[in-house]
Amino acid sequence: MTYSDFRKAFAQLKNKPAIWKKYLKFNKPKERSCGYNRLRCKRCGRARAHINKYGLHLCRHCFREIAFKLGFKKYD
Ligand SMILES: [Zn+2]
Repeated sequence: MTYSDFRKAFAQLKNKPAIWKKYLKFNKPKERSCGYNRLRCKRCGRARAHINKYGLHLCRHCFREIAFKLGFKKYD
């Protein structure tokens, strides 16, 4: 299974708080100070193709979808 967001795999556990807490304790990926997985898209969680400029913190796919709403204009 591809790792996109560890929370997606166990969505059903949110109805069982005790088991959810235990799952987090042992399976949550550790917080990274540097490296590939540190910067993730805040909209979809993708790690690759991250746009950090202007404090966007989006992947290129999400940026393409919402750029116009954010006020970016495409020049031809
Ligand atoms: Zn994204």
